[in-house]
Amino acid sequence: MEEEIREQKEFLGLILDSMPAGVMVIDAKTHRIENVNLEAVAMIGESPDEVIGKSCFEIFPEIKGLCPVTAVGQEVDCAERILHRVDGSRLPVLKIVKRLKTKSGEKLIETFIDLTERKKLEEQLYRLSVTDYLTQAYNRRYFTEVLEREIERTKRTNRPFSLIMLDIDHFKNVNDRFGHAAGDLVLKSLVNLIKNRIRQTDCLARWGGEEFVILLPDTHVQEAAGLAEELREQLSLMEIPVVSRVTASFGVTGYCSGDTLDTLLMRADQMLYAAKASGRNCVRFSEKCPEN
Ligand code: GH3
Ligand code: MG
Ligand code: MG
Repeated sequence: MEEEIREQKEFLGLILDSMPAGVMVIDAKTHRIENVNLEAVAMIGESPDEVIGKSCFEIFPEIKGLCPVTAVGQEVDCAERILHRVDGSRLPVLKIVKRLKTKSGEKLIETFIDLTERKKLEEQLYRLSVTDYLTQAYNRRYFTEVLEREIERTKRTNRPFSLIMLDIDHFKNVNDRFGHAAGDLVLKSLVNLIKNRIRQTDCLARWGGEEFVILLPDTHVQEAAGLAEELREQLSLMEIPVVSRVTASFGVTGYCSGDTLDTLLMRADQMLYAAKASGRNCVRFSEKCPEN
């Protein structure tokens, strides 16, 4: 009989250890860990002997006092949590906690899987979905979202913001004379130049082809025009391999009460057109808001 029980225990231990998820058995009253499997100790970074007897809140401190099962009374909890490893590092995990009534009192069975790889992939995917592959500037879709949000923010806070739209001059000639690869290099060099100059809170996007837009929060149109002038000059002086030098034309506008995404972009585009019409390699900005 004893032999049978021992064998059964051993068998259960083997099953637990072969599971590709961390498993802990916890006393529901004391929150002490009573049993762990190999995957759990590997994630925590200690031996089973060191883990057993610890409070589960040492491993998941964020839920201390807030445990959805014991403190809030849920039967089951399934949520993304942060596992605190012994070496101080953190692991994002998906954790499921279930109540279990046993003869020796109520237990919690916690099962968790490592989400590190999935999180990395999600981040990569997100980055791909918001950036332009060639230049690594943001793409048009992302910019549109940011601009929509900025318009809403401005309506609430009355903070100003501005928009710069720029287009490389005679870019077709660059491609025709030096080839598409050289043209691509110009686009990448331009993006690097702008990224090095603007603020972390500004947003640079490739609007299409050789046209770019910059959103500048908390910036009046005059300040934005000053920045555009600086960028224009820096670009005109930048030495680009093979191509030598290029210039760009800039249209600048600021948010005006009642503006929508379309009216703002249209005004920036009109200013850009005015810069092209004035002979290119220059900045034009809307000094006044349109009369309503
Ligand atoms: P303007 O001064 O009036 O702006 O003249 P432009 O030649 O720059 O304007 P146009 O619209 O006639 O030509 C834009 C060129 O940009 C044509 C297109 O081949 C080129 N272009 C668009 N996207 C890319 C790209 O990803 N790489 C390269 N190398 N060229 C591109
Ligand atoms: Mg152009
Ligand atoms: Mg263009």
